[in-house]
Order: sequence, then structure tokens, then C-alpha cells
Amino acid sequence: MTGNLFIITAASGAGKTSLVRELLASDSQIQLSVSYTTRKPRPGEVDGVHYHFVEEAEFMRMLEASDFLESAHVHGARYGTSQSRVESVLKQGNDLILEIDWQGAAQVRSLYPQAISIFILPPSLEALEQRLHGRGQDSAEVIARRLAAARDEMRHVVEFDYVTINDDFEVALNDLRAIIRTQRLQREKQLLRHQDLLEKLI
Ligand code: 5GP
Repeated sequence: MTGNLFIITAASGAGKTSLVRELLASDSQIQLSVSYTTRKPRPGEVDGVHYHFVEEAEFMRMLEASDFLESAHVHGARYGTSQSRVESVLKQGNDLILEIDWQGAAQVRSLYPQAISIFILPPSLEALEQRLHGRGQDSAEVIARRLAAARDEMRHVVEFDYVTINDDFEVALNDLRAIIRTQRLQREKQLLRHQDLLEKLI
């Protein structure tokens, strides 16, 4: 039985990364796809954990070799998802989260129509701006650019299956858990999972 593929998208500053981190810490059946990027690491980011940080030439080599399930240019850097990693995690029956932008989400949706896509919105524009400042790792110019990009990104919310608003962290986290749980309870998957029980019952 194959695992579920979840796409989680949000405007930068909506709190997506913290939510996903908490989700992973409390659920051993779900894994995160570590993306490849040409962006430079931020302080505290570890190669192979937060991203696979690669040079432009290496990224282009992988792109030409069709190593990416999807890829996109976001905020001046390239990002891509490893195709082989996605396939192997799903084949093992584990669930996988792709933390990617709307362009990548559209590409994955066309390849895996059964993928479940979730968009995380901030509670207000003010809160989003505050969070972008609060991170303290990017320059004012980068923040202004990201805020404008965030509004563009949020227009794509209509393309997603589920929407959660990250006002209260625990509420948003429980929303994500509910979506994942619902997916796992689908009849087709449950009947496969519990074949032995069913044979005894009916
Ligand atoms: P950041 O550089 O702040 O970590 O991420 C910038 C944006 O790139 C975010 O919207 C993030 O979701 C997106 N992103 C990260 N990895 C990937 C990826 O593999 N593919 C795509 N399409 N977007 C990604």
C-alpha cells in the first residue's frame, strides 16, 4: 500500500515551517522531503536537514537528469524536490510532506492527482508583516519583496484542497493533524490495512 502525499504551501511568514516541524515530531509515520536549493544557508540551517544546499551548476545538472519531481524559481533561487525520495517513501507505505510553493504544488498535482494539498494562511496582513520582521534574518529589502510575493502566493489558495489559518498555533496544528488522519481513514486504505480483520468479520 502506498503512503499519502501531502503538499503544504504558505506565504513566507505564515508559520508553515514551525507547524511542519511539530507535526513531524509527533507522528512517526510521516516524513518530510528535504528540498534541493541554490539559496545560501541562513544561520542555523544545516545541509541535508533543512535543505540540500547546492550550486547552480549542480542544480541544473540534476534538472537535466530529470532528478526532480518538480522545481521552481522562488525569490531569486531555485528549489526542487527529489523524485526518487518521494517514490521510495511512498512505496514503503509512509506518508510524505512536501513543503513547496504554489508553482511546485501545481506540478505535483498534475503528476500525482491523489496528492492532498493544504494552504496555510496568516490571520492578517499585519501579522504576516510582523512575522517577517520577527525572523530577523533577512534585510528590509528582502522583507518588502517577500511581503509583496506573499500576496501573490496567497491568490493561489483557491487551487488547494484544504485551508487552515495560523492564528493560534495549536489550533492550526490540530487542523493539519485532522486532515492527515482523515486521509488515512479513507475506506480503500482502511480495507487494505485491515484485510485480516475484514476476512473474519464478513
Ligand atoms: P525559504 O527559502 O524561505 O526556505 O523558502 C522559500 C519558498 O520556497 C517557500 O515558499 C518554500 O515553500 C519554497 N520551497 C522550498 N522548497 C521547495 C521545493 O522543493 N520546491 C518548490 N517549488 N518550492 C520550494
